[in-house]
Amino acid sequence: MKEDIRNKLQNVLEDRVFHKTEDCISYGYDGSFGQHIPDFVVQVQSTEEVQSVVRIANEFNMPITPRGASTSLSGGPLPVEKGIIMDFSQWDHYLEIFPEDLLIKASPGVITGDIHKLADEHNLMYAPDPSSSSICTIGGNLAENAGGPRGVKYGVTKDYVLGLEVVTAQGEVIQTGGNTVKNVTGYDLTKLIVGSEGTLGVITEATLRLIPKPLATKTAMILFDDLYTAGKSISTILTSGVRPSKMEILDNNALNRVEDYAKLDLPREASAILLVEVDGDPTILDKELQTIKEALLQIGVDKVDIAENKEDEDKLWQVRKLVSPAIVESGYTKISEDVTLPLSKIPDMFKKIDEIKQKHDLNIVVFGHAGDGNLHPTLNTNMRDQNEVERVEDAVEEIFSYAVQLGGTLSGEHGIGTMKRAFMTKELGESGVQFQKAIKTALDPNNLLNPGKIFPIAGEERLVLRNE
Ligand SMILES: Cc1cc2nc3c(=O)[nH]c(=O)nc-3n(C[C@H](O)[C@H](O)[C@H](O)COP(=O)(O)OP(=O)(O)OC[C@H]3O[C@@H](n4cnc5c(N)ncnc54)[C@H](O)[C@@H]3O)c2cc1C
Repeated sequence: MKEDIRNKLQNVLEDRVFHKTEDCISYGYDGSFGQHIPDFVVQVQSTEEVQSVVRIANEFNMPITPRGASTSLSGGPLPVEKGIIMDFSQWDHYLEIFPEDLLIKASPGVITGDIHKLADEHNLMYAPDPSSSSICTIGGNLAENAGGPRGVKYGVTKDYVLGLEVVTAQGEVIQTGGNTVKNVTGYDLTKLIVGSEGTLGVITEATLRLIPKPLATKTAMILFDDLYTAGKSISTILTSGVRPSKMEILDNNALNRVEDYAKLDLPREASAILLVEVDGDPTILDKELQTIKEALLQIGVDKVDIAENKEDEDKLWQVRKLVSPAIVESGYTKISEDVTLPLSKIPDMFKKIDEIKQKHDLNIVVFGHAGDGNLHPTLNTNMRDQNEVERVEDAVEEIFSYAVQLGGTLSGEHGIGTMKRAFMTKELGESGVQFQKAIKTALDPNNLLNPGKIFPIAGEERLVLRNE
């Protein structure tokens, strides 16, 4: 049967079909764990080719997993039930801006950073800015509903999608939304597809909304003597009357990893730092930072350093950009979590993580998009040390449970994939999961699109760290 499928795929895609293990092996990873070698890798170059592949997959009942740049941290593009990996990297990327309509159109494999650049050239901004922008694709961002530092003021990917072209599980092409900001014609299928992790359809084109580029930015670094106050300061700032454009937190551990890695002369002794950016008309930015300073004084925080010029500002943001490389450099496997909390609960979560750290004797680094309540507790683990892996699994499970208990969520931006599917019922309840499953079954009755993702698997009750 495999040969029949191969022949059919090759009839459409010619030499853009791979089946040998040595060709397929590097398509079996993402930014999380596990290795799942697909039966085939196909490099599609058009919507029509996507349709043909989906129809062949239907004929042979073979799963398809769409794959962008594979930077997913939740196992999204892993072909856990083998089948076909659909790779968009060889598509002759389409990226066109319509400045007067404030929109941009892109094919699925376009790198997000290229969308930022094109918008910028027209004095416009595509606001969603995942930290992986220089390598990840818009298809992956749409499927994961990616966020980023600017989320606190500007929202996340779903807030900037006007319309999509999607190939359904049956190989039909549908359009959702359109080219207008307002559109209430029927169900909001755009929002249904965004964040569906490649399980409901293959996105083949996106129409994205642009906004005017802010005229200027100004950044402050705030130092804290204790983590609890750092957590408290987030609500204090956001209720001060100023809406920062970025608010990123690093705990002492994260700060010291960056300092070890890059020697930036950071205040190693601070319990945490908060980087706060305001943007807009340059004449009001100093006043806005002053308002924030005054609000912080009310809770006893007085260490606020404001960057004097663009160079100093870039240096401050360098600190945040280097967190991930610094953690990777410090050894072993990086497990990056993604809980999101109501803002007032952030101090409680910091306290809890501290307790969990002591209890399981683990080194947990905390950083994240503080203004969205989105924290990334991150651990370095030696995956060969079974005892340590078990302690990490326990710790992560406790963090998830506490996030849900506090009214938060399992994932703010990385998605569920394979990594968090065991916890879905904890957050949504049995009927909530069944309701979502009913949508999946209605749109993809043969479960061909990215199977094994999002929904709990019978008998699997824990975090999946080693999912091969
Ligand atoms: C260093 C680093 C920093 C990161 N920072 C952030 C951050 O700030 N914010 C954030 O949100 N995430 C972040 N991530 C996670 C990751 O970059 C995002 O989830 C990103 O959106 C994935 O894009 P990708 O192109 O790599 O997609 P992939 O990882 O290849 O795929 C992700 C999911 O999208 C599906 N998919 C891909 N293309 C399509 C398509 N055309 N149609 C349907 N489904 C499709 C896949 O099946 C999979 O389920 C970070 C990752 C790393 C490694």
